[in-house]
Amino acid sequence: MKTKEAEFYHKSSDAKIICDLCPHHCVLKEKQMSPCGSRMQIDGKLYALSYGQAIAQAIDPIEKKPLYHFLPGESTYSIGTPGCNLHCRNCQNSNLSQSDNLEMRNEIISPEQIVRQAKTNHCSSISYTYSEPTIFYEYMLETAQLAHKEGIKNIMVSNGYICKDALQKLLPYLDAVNIDMKVFSDSIYKELTGGSLKPVLSSILEIKKANIHLEITMLCIPGMTDDENLLMEFVKWMETHNMLNVPLHMSRFFPSYKLNHIPPCPESKLYELIDIARERMFFVYPGNVVANEMRNLNCYKCGELLISRTQEKTYPYINEDGSCPKCGKIIIPTYQGTQIR
Ligand code: SF4
Repeated sequence: MKTKEAEFYHKSSDAKIICDLCPHHCVLKEKQMSPCGSRMQIDGKLYALSYGQAIAQAIDPIEKKPLYHFLPGESTYSIGTPGCNLHCRNCQNSNLSQSDNLEMRNEIISPEQIVRQAKTNHCSSISYTYSEPTIFYEYMLETAQLAHKEGIKNIMVSNGYICKDALQKLLPYLDAVNIDMKVFSDSIYKELTGGSLKPVLSSILEIKKANIHLEITMLCIPGMTDDENLLMEFVKWMETHNMLNVPLHMSRFFPSYKLNHIPPCPESKLYELIDIARERMFFVYPGNVVANEMRNLNCYKCGELLISRTQEKTYPYINEDGSCPKCGKIIIPTYQGTQIR
């Protein structure tokens, strides 16, 4: 079995290992598989079984991550490995996320190969996505370091459930992050995912403090995460932390995995929630619906169309420095241009 020694763990006095990568701080006995399916204690050390196990690889539009204010219209080379540190009842990718890395390939796909694939396929970025990249941390970090040397940007699409030290070590190599924060309620978060909300909020603040491009996703699940008051509390929290200009993606729920009994979120309800968030937040976009016009970006000062999106294509008209070509207002301070014009 080819593996890599994990980062961020310590030993207990009774020969167990405590993983310090995410806030679960799992305690693992010899040969015990971690609940995230990616780590195991072998001969007194913790190993990252997910290293080199990119079983999902594809070239995706960056809008699919979703990122709407970062390299609009470009393609991103996307990878993921089995496993996840949360166990969301609504998971749309449970075949990948709720499996483990025991069935490992003999040959790993190296970080060098991934960077080469991204270059060969003319992708200006690599996205760590599909499952939760925290659980393939060592693989992501090495690939991201190599990618930066080659002038390729790195995108983490994450639940944000990661310890501060691990996140801090990764941040210098990240260019954009989408955090799926799910719901602004610790009790519902726990019921839905098995984790707790506070570490996710801390991660959001750390990413913002590091001035890395950030977007946030929330899924509107009828009767669980579609409460107007919770949404208002979240918007107030964003305002308190000066983040009203962070793009928010509010996605329509469809029945999936263990929530197959819940009906889809009505489109009208999704638009109602988007209207509430838009009262304070500058950029709120619908997800899992067609609604092309609502996916456009207009200047909030003069109304000029800055990025237009159809189902098939994205047309950016915004200036390279993230300003409006008509009135000059800086709309996206972290904008990094695009090759699509
Ligand atoms: S990364 Fe996995 S093993 Fe480590 S604490 Fe989180 S769930 Fe547990």
